[in-house]
Amino acid sequence: LTERMQPFTSTIFAEITALATRTGSINLGQGFPDTDGPRELLDAASTALYSGANQYPPGPGIPELRTAVAEHQQRFYDLDVDPDTEVLITTGATEAIASSILALCEPGDEVVTFEPYYDSYVASIALAGAERRTVRLRHPRFDIDGDELRAAFSDRTRIVLLNTPHNPTGKVFTRAELEHIAELAVEHDAVVVTDEVYEHLVFDGLSHVPIATLPQMADRTLTISSAGKTFSVTGWKIGWMHGRAELVAAARAVKQFLTFVSGGPLQPAVAAGLRLGDEVFHDLGRNLQRKRDLLVAGLQRAGFDVFPTSGTYFVIVDAAPLGFDDGVELCQRLPELAGVAAVPVSVFCDDKESTRSLVRFAFCKRDEVLHAAADRLSRLG
Ligand code: PMP
Ligand code: GLN
Repeated sequence: LTERMQPFTSTIFAEITALATRTGSINLGQGFPDTDGPRELLDAASTALYSGANQYPPGPGIPELRTAVAEHQQRFYDLDVDPDTEVLITTGATEAIASSILALCEPGDEVVTFEPYYDSYVASIALAGAERRTVRLRHPRFDIDGDELRAAFSDRTRIVLLNTPHNPTGKVFTRAELEHIAELAVEHDAVVVTDEVYEHLVFDGLSHVPIATLPQMADRTLTISSAGKTFSVTGWKIGWMHGRAELVAAARAVKQFLTFVSGGPLQPAVAAGLRLGDEVFHDLGRNLQRKRDLLVAGLQRAGFDVFPTSGTYFVIVDAAPLGFDDGVELCQRLPELAGVAAVPVSVFCDDKESTRSLVRFAFCKRDEVLHAAADRLSRLG
């Protein structure tokens, strides 16, 4: 294994899910729902599967799905996207992120990103031979320090890799924060690659603002999302990106040699999903907000210090008030102590010290599962 890949031999999600399975624990570690998404998608996939959609689809994705992505961006964000030249269908958001970075970064180029970071970001940056410059989201509110943000930029900055709503904090970046990031991206002539897979999972009346909608940003932004979270089909791995034609073409050049094309029969099904009525998208957020409240109440009862989360599947807690000051160790022992699995936050950070006792729980589970988990955790203290 190459030196650059040596830190990435396993992922925390695979490790914790294996531990949860081995111990028969409730898995609130890896973020995946335990129910299927809209029936319309499942039916459309099944129809496609039996009507000959089983050979290589076109490289950029089937026209029907590219059009559905463009229409979705128009409907929710008033963004004008040309489905023929400005959209690329990928194997999940993961491939969209990797191909953007591999397409745009020369070795030694810098990628500004925020920590805690999603694990694939650091691996993709390393694969490109690029360097990461991380900006801390400081708990309890996961705020950004303006000076720290500015200091992360340099004349080697090529990409700002953004994620809003943010995994693992549940932070929804405000318009003002996005404006600051946009201003620095323009000043340093950087491309913003923005991971918006949780775009519809936003709570408390907040709205998701795609950075591509800010002035001067449409041309320097690659916006990424995926069917996994919006339609509760995380195993389908159908994602997409859109942005200026030249940037999308660059990422497409890389994508051709990672996977060539993605999931033939699933593409028409995701297109059908993206065309569902507004209420489907709103219900998803409303439903998940209730689940968040349910788990948050349980975690508070158990004695954790629970940080605010306004989006995604996730909530971060501090386990120190319960006497656990090492989250990595706690997550190894939690299945045996309480029959619940969670992931430590410090594995997503360069600054491991200030995030040492933090742990992430997922609430994208059936109510009875969340009740059972809360019950088990209440015996911890
Ligand atoms: N980005 C973030 C922030 C995620 O949490 C995930 C995990 N779902 C992904 C990307 C990967 O998405 P996909 O499964 O579509 O590759
Ligand atoms: N996105 C999911 C999470 O953060 C995990 C996806 C994966 O296992 N790579 O839990």
